[in-house]
Amino acid sequence: MHNAAFAALGMDGWRYQLLPVPPALFATTARGLGQAGLLGANVTIPHKQASLELATSASPAAREIGAANTLTFAPDGAIAAENTDAPGLLAALAALSGVPARPRALVLGAGGSARAAVWALRSAGASEVLVWNRTYARARALAEEFGARAVRSPEPADLLVNCTSVGLNLPESVERSSGDREVLNQLGLTFDQVGEYSNVVDLVYRTHSTPLLAAARAHGAGTVDGQDVLVAQGALSFELWTGVPAPLEVMREAVRDA
Ligand code: NAP
Repeated sequence: MHNAAFAALGMDGWRYQLLPVPPALFATTARGLGQAGLLGANVTIPHKQASLELATSASPAAREIGAANTLTFAPDGAIAAENTDAPGLLAALAALSGVPARPRALVLGAGGSARAAVWALRSAGASEVLVWNRTYARARALAEEFGARAVRSPEPADLLVNCTSVGLNLPESVERSSGDREVLNQLGLTFDQVGEYSNVVDLVYRTHSTPLLAAARAHGAGTVDGQDVLVAQGALSFELWTGVPAPLEVMREAVRDA
C-alpha cells in the first residue's frame, strides 16, 4: 500500500520493502537502517516492544501502550518511536456514524492489539471500556493497567472491537456455515448476541468478511473491517515519514488487490 501511494503521488525514488529480521539481530539491524540513510520502518510482531526499547525518544502513546509499530530515523542517529495502531483504530472508527461521543466499548482479547485498542478508547474518552478474553486473568491484568473493567462474559455495549486472532485461519469456503457459529462461540458470543452491538470492528483481516462482521451486518450494525484499520495505521506512518497527506483510497485499493 505504501508503494502504491508513492506511485500515485509521483514520489520517485521512494521505496517501502519487507525485511524479515530475527529477534537477536533486531536492534543492530534497526540502528543500521538509520545509519544507512533510511527514513523509517514499520515494525511488527515480535519486535514492537524491542522497538520502543531501542528508540531514543517515544511518543506518549507508544510509551503508555508499551509498543511501537513505527520508527523514524534522523540523520544524527536519533530514533523516534510511535504507535500508529491506536490512532489508526480511532481514525477507522470515524467511518461509523452511529458511535456515541463517549461510547461504552467492549474489547475482545488481551494481546498486543487489545492493549492498543483499550488505550485508544480510554484516551478518546469512552465512558467505559470492558475487556473480555478467553484467558480471564489476562483480561483482568490489562484492564487494571489501563483503567478498564474485565468481564467474565461479553456484555452489551455501543461498540465491539475484536482484537483476538479468532477467525484468522478459517478457510474461506466454510464461511456462512457451521464455521461461523464456531468462530462466534470462541468469542463468547452467539449470533443473536452479536445483535446487542450496533457498531462492530474486527481487526482480523481477510479477503472475505469475517463471521463476526457477517453476523453484525445481518443485524444491521455499522462495521469496520481489519483492512480499513490496517490502512489507517499505515496512512499515519506514511504521513509521519513523508509529511504528505496519505492517498487513502489508493492504499485501500492496493490492500484489497493484494
Ligand atoms: P496476540 O497478542 O497474539 O493476541 C491474541 C489474542 O487472541 C489473545 O487475546 C488470545 O487469547 C486470543 N485468542 C487466540 N486464539 C483464540 C481462540 N481460539 N479462542 C479465543 N481467543 C483466542 O495477537 P494481536 O497482535 O493482538 O493480534 C490479534 C489479531 O488482530 C490478529 O488476527 C492480527 O492479525 C490482528 N491485527 C490486525 C491489525 C490491523 O491493522 N487490522 C493490527 C494488529 C493486529 P488468550 O489470551 O486466551 O490466548
